[in-house]
Amino acid sequence: MANISEIAQLGAKVLRLKAQAVTAMPSAELQQIIETMQDTLATTLGVGIAAPQISVSKRIIIIASRPTERYPSAPLMEPTVMINPVFHALSDIKEKDWEGCLSIPGIRALVPRYKEIQINYTNQQGILMEAKLEGFVARVFQHEVDHLEGKVYLDRVEDNRDIFAESEYVKSQALDL
Ligand code: ZN
Repeated sequence: MANISEIAQLGAKVLRLKAQAVTAMPSAELQQIIETMQDTLATTLGVGIAAPQISVSKRIIIIASRPTERYPSAPLMEPTVMINPVFHALSDIKEKDWEGCLSIPGIRALVPRYKEIQINYTNQQGILMEAKLEGFVARVFQHEVDHLEGKVYLDRVEDNRDIFAESEYVKSQALDL
């Protein structure tokens, strides 16, 4: 049976907390949280989710890049569960691109993010993993890790003019051929 949670919306306190590291794994509780995150994400057009978005203040994210109506040019990858994820930038280069958030419906904005990052995390089996990410997937990762720090993408917008209503974003993208 699917375990679907409501998604915490901007203004909810849990989105502004620094999430706690996961210390015991694997555990039945952790498994339950991950399943709820997976099932909840599957009901959306999102490409990632962080545990605080299901009101669980723990350091767990899922990156699930796939082309959707929301992100038509997203690369397809297996959904990946990442526990206690960290990263560092491989260069100082940042790129601005559009982001949205399941916790902030109806809004899109241009957000600067590191282009290339080195990441470390623990997988569901408790094994330490490392990878290099770039471009869109690196962006999704940085967006989700921000949720673990109590940040949302609007905090990183450099100019309020970079914030669009979703309906205007769709119009602007339609012209961008
Ligand atoms: Zn988000």
